[in-house]
Amino acid sequence: MSDIRALYATEDGEIFDAPNILPMGRIGDKNVPLKEEDLIPLPEGADLMFLPGRKAVGMMEDGEVVPILGYAVAALLPQGFTRLYLPAYEKDEDSPLPIYGYTAAVLVNDEIYVAAMKTDESESWNPLNYNTPELKKLIKRVKADLPRNSIVENLQKCALKWHCLTAQNLFYRRFEAGVPVSPVCNANCLGCISLQTSQMCPAPQSRIKKSPAVKEIVEVMLYHLDFAPNAIVSFGQGCEGDQSLAADIVATAIERVRERTKRGKINMNTNGGFTEGVKKIVDAGLNNMRLSIISPTEEIYEAYYRPNYSINDVKTSIKYAMEKGVYVSLNLLTFPGLNDREEEVNAWIDFCKELPVPMIQIRNLNMDPDFLLERLPRPKGKMLGTRRFLEILKENFPDMIIGSFSHS
Ligand code: SF4
Repeated sequence: MSDIRALYATEDGEIFDAPNILPMGRIGDKNVPLKEEDLIPLPEGADLMFLPGRKAVGMMEDGEVVPILGYAVAALLPQGFTRLYLPAYEKDEDSPLPIYGYTAAVLVNDEIYVAAMKTDESESWNPLNYNTPELKKLIKRVKADLPRNSIVENLQKCALKWHCLTAQNLFYRRFEAGVPVSPVCNANCLGCISLQTSQMCPAPQSRIKKSPAVKEIVEVMLYHLDFAPNAIVSFGQGCEGDQSLAADIVATAIERVRERTKRGKINMNTNGGFTEGVKKIVDAGLNNMRLSIISPTEEIYEAYYRPNYSINDVKTSIKYAMEKGVYVSLNLLTFPGLNDREEEVNAWIDFCKELPVPMIQIRNLNMDPDFLLERLPRPKGKMLGTRRFLEILKENFPDMIIGSFSHS
């Protein structure tokens, strides 16, 4: 029997274990005891932090829930790992937490473990391959190759200031590189990382102020497609709005690029709400589309995205893209106690029957748990747990890939 203990942190961020106190996690708005099968060792590249204004809680052998004199501890997982439980805590301050994907962390036999499961494997996205000492030199090289290109200037900031992986890939000349083009969006997500209007907390990144010129977009796309093996150029980054609203320049750029090279893949990350824009970009020669979605249920979708379009527009965009041979994957924003509710699981089965996408990419939603739940309609049914939710999807759609990264 493993020795499993709750963790807590002091004011200055030192983390300690609480002997004889069993750890708890949170699902929806409920703190629950954590079981050994819910836990895996802390993955490489994960971070640990304490939650200001959130007191740690744990459980005695007899089941009594007790406060622990310290702050709750959370882990931030690298891509490829899916959170099963949020950290358990008692709130004693109202100020919202910053936009991160908080995951329960505990001590098991003197090692830090997290309430998560591995959902995908990709050396390409291993955080240890990024932010390396030669990055600055590589940025200089690309700036010399593509002088006075506003996208390169923007990506330099994204790479060095926000450590964005797709920004850095342009400079490393490998894999998926971001090409941000749209300063505006047709949604207003509660958890938007580039523009926060919900007074939750400052957005972790700032949104680009204006669209680049078609010439600049073509230059960066050709550069990456020429140099990077397995190259993907990707519209729709964390520092922009939705590029379907910049469809004219994106479509023109794709057409010009495809006149000169067939190399690599062209992807767009979108909310899919502006169908006319999506159609224009698809018709121009898009290969992959990754569509962000938190729920197929209209009222939950609308409460989170606060869109000026409907979920039916999103469905029309997916249908059109798949009919045109685009590889469509869903970027499913997961939150324990939301997606795994019985009625949500049934809604997902109906959605994937209607729109049989080849892949679902699981993304831990970055958000203050209380801030989110206070603003979403209260889901009804039993909470089945994120692992069971993913199992049910796989049972119903055995050919669908459930992972965390683009594989094609
Ligand atoms: S769709 Fe993207 S850019 Fe638009 S509000 Fe949502 S997170 Fe922000």
